[in-house]
Amino acid sequence: MIESRHKQFTTLFPTEPAFRWKQVEQGLFSFATSWEELTSLSKYIREHIGSIPWMTVTPQKIQISGNGDTHKALLRVEGDQDIETVLMKNKRDAWTICVSSQVGCAMRCGFCATGKMGLIRSLTSDEIVDQYRFWMQYLQEHKELEGRISNIVFMGMGEPLANYEEVKYALNAILKHSDIGRTRITVSTVGVLPRLEQMLTDKDWPHVRLAISLHSAVSETRKQIVPTSYDDFLPKLGDWAKRYLYRHGNRRHHLTFEYVMLKGVNDTPDQARALAKFVNRIGNVRVNLIPYNLTGLEFECSTPPAIKQFLEILQSKHVISTTRRTMGDDIDAACGQLAGSKEKT
Ligand code: SAH
Repeated sequence: MIESRHKQFTTLFPTEPAFRWKQVEQGLFSFATSWEELTSLSKYIREHIGSIPWMTVTPQKIQISGNGDTHKALLRVEGDQDIETVLMKNKRDAWTICVSSQVGCAMRCGFCATGKMGLIRSLTSDEIVDQYRFWMQYLQEHKELEGRISNIVFMGMGEPLANYEEVKYALNAILKHSDIGRTRITVSTVGVLPRLEQMLTDKDWPHVRLAISLHSAVSETRKQIVPTSYDDFLPKLGDWAKRYLYRHGNRRHHLTFEYVMLKGVNDTPDQARALAKFVNRIGNVRVNLIPYNLTGLEFECSTPPAIKQFLEILQSKHVISTTRRTMGDDIDAACGQLAGSKEKT
């Protein structure tokens, strides 16, 4: 069990009032590069805090896509494990980061490179927060990239809701100490229903945007491509989604269904109609089609005309839908390609 920085702080400074930790945490989100630079802390704390890690992730390798719009970092975490995190340009002066929540993943989705690794361990909230801090520092050091982090997506390695408490802690820390608001953070999940239920009544869960990896509104097809799916998953998800939107939905807060486009598997007109029907029964949902990025031999990406036709069927049924732009596939940084494998380095 890796002890959090917070826990280490309270052990090291048992008599310090609670607000001191908030000051420390605020310092972690500043542009300082070491504890010594945090002059907001007392000299006593600065002299004794050195055993707490300033950074819990160490860069091993950085790859940059040919067009310079996507940077991928391989970061080492405790236990000699590697994770990957990605920085993507979304518009001038603004970057989106894609963070990992686990080393590997237990969900085994057949089209996802992380799924093939199995789960090694969940990341701590410090390791999640430090991916953000790593990119903050990176942009600070690379002034030519001109910009700041405006969005965060939890779409890297792992299933965020299988690491609910640490992800929640990290989200709250980021929301508290950065200028990134709830509508600029998206947690993507395969749909862990007990955790989605918990979220509805959890006062401490920050209602950032949610994206659910649906991939098919036909139960048999979903079970085929998402092994953790089961017979009544879709009706249960539909029921949950209605209750979620009733409580938390508004003009700015919708749910997103992600849908990876797999040739001949889930990209037929029948599948599009089933998806439209499922979405329209729920309400404020948007669909994001993701062209499949190659991770193995079992699947192929749908053809551009198939994607176009799929999108047209959705739109003809008034489903708000978009196709995700593929970024960084030349450096294996696109959706589902993150595996942090040491062989690749
Ligand atoms: N475990 C989370 C985060 C996964 S990554 C989840 O399941 O949502 C974010 C998105 O990329 C998910 O929708 C995931 O299904 C999708 N994805 C995974 N592998 C992919 C691939 N090879 N090509 C395109 N999208 C992929």
